[in-house]
Amino acid sequence: MKLQKTALVLADISGYTRFVLFHKLSILHAEQIITELIEAVAEQARFPLRLNKLQGDAAFFVAAIDEDDEGALDDIVTQVGSFFDAFREKRAAQFRGTIGGCRCSACQTVENLTLKAFVHVGEVVQKKVGDFDEVAGESVILIHRLLKNSIEEREYLVLTDDVVKEITADPFTNKRRLVEMVDDLGEVGIMVYQPQSSRLTRPAKQPLLTIEGIKTAIVYSSRAFAQLLTRNARVFQNMPQ
Ligand SMILES: [Zn+2]
Repeated sequence: MKLQKTALVLADISGYTRFVLFHKLSILHAEQIITELIEAVAEQARFPLRLNKLQGDAAFFVAAIDEDDEGALDDIVTQVGSFFDAFREKRAAQFRGTIGGCRCSACQTVENLTLKAFVHVGEVVQKKVGDFDEVAGESVILIHRLLKNSIEEREYLVLTDDVVKEITADPFTNKRRLVEMVDDLGEVGIMVYQPQSSRLTRPAKQPLLTIEGIKTAIVYSSRAFAQLLTRNARVFQNMPQ
């Protein structure tokens, strides 16, 4: 058991409502969709960042940081940025796959799913439990409690002040600073980044026949019919007697 400076990353997928999780088929498909999305995100993690635990609709990653490795945290933050690209790519593929496919509410509302990611750094206790590396300590509690916050946006990346003050380059724009009140731990300064919006928009359903459409069709066909009559009349007029 030892104390180790560690980067902690929590990626959380949310967006399904209670309604989606009401029917058996929807529950199964929701589970499958979320698992695929988490896998797509987890595949982006490269050394030293590694998946530590899957927790329902969230994935928890850790990376031991050497005190003299200055670029490590920058690299990890960049990796977490790429989580959003992987998530959106997978979600878009699922979206294309489900249009016109399964009608269950989980498949039909894939585009409502969003990714929230949190990055924090601190001293954590690392211990081996069987084959698993367990991490514990206040920093681990803090990053999980940050899930409950005052941020109104549906999709975002949060870096705690402890991360922000250590990274040498800030790879993201579109940010604002907040102070969150975290249960038992007090005020925690965070930077909230808004990844470029990539919300999918379902094409509006256009009825095939509208009153306007029918009117237009009648106007056009009667005009065409009139033209046909006129042309024929001319043809008849020009015919040799
Ligand atoms: Zn379905």
